[in-house]
Amino acid sequence: MARYCGAVCRLCRREGEKLFLKGERCYTSKCAMERRQGGPGQHGRGRQAFSGFKVQLRAKQKAKRMYGLTEQAFRRCYTEAAQRRGVTGTEMLVALERRLDNCVFRLGFGISRAQSRQLVSHGHILVNGSRVTIPSYAVSVGDTLEVVESKRGSVSVRASIEASASRPSPGWLSLDRESLKGSVISLPTREQIPASINEQLVVELYSR
Ligand code: SF4
Repeated sequence: MARYCGAVCRLCRREGEKLFLKGERCYTSKCAMERRQGGPGQHGRGRQAFSGFKVQLRAKQKAKRMYGLTEQAFRRCYTEAAQRRGVTGTEMLVALERRLDNCVFRLGFGISRAQSRQLVSHGHILVNGSRVTIPSYAVSVGDTLEVVESKRGSVSVRASIEASASRPSPGWLSLDRESLKGSVISLPTREQIPASINEQLVVELYSR
């Protein structure tokens, strides 16, 4: 299935929760979640019927949309997590967090995951000194992530870094704000993943 290219605020309104897909605007009163009630569309404010399946589906859609993945990529992430030792839901979330585009976002190089993904795919991010252009690249403990020198002074990267200063930094990544170099201290634990995702519901949906 193709990547969603429509209005992203609709996705937040559908999930009834801020997914922080638009960068700085998400933290201001201009956010559509602050200004408009109910789901998107003509019947968005209508009465909602909730079945077990619907609850599971919404949990999966929320996680998928938060990380900006296609259905195919998200399901692959689940399938690989199910083959690993450990709790499937937690393994899936850790795999999502380890994605390079997510790490670039968590470090504050990009203002949103979409922008971070673009930074990676356009070759502006180095991992251990080498250019990596694959957004799904899984980082490992000890990896260093940095913005290429030619991009370090760019307005968008500097603005992202400044805006991210007010957000809580993930304990498993460290960042040197001057040199724009980050490193992976450890793999994230479930407690260090702030996403308000009910991963158990996602596992239940895919195990049907
Ligand atoms: Fe979601 Fe951000 Fe749009 Fe608010 S501004 S509805 S958080 S994408």
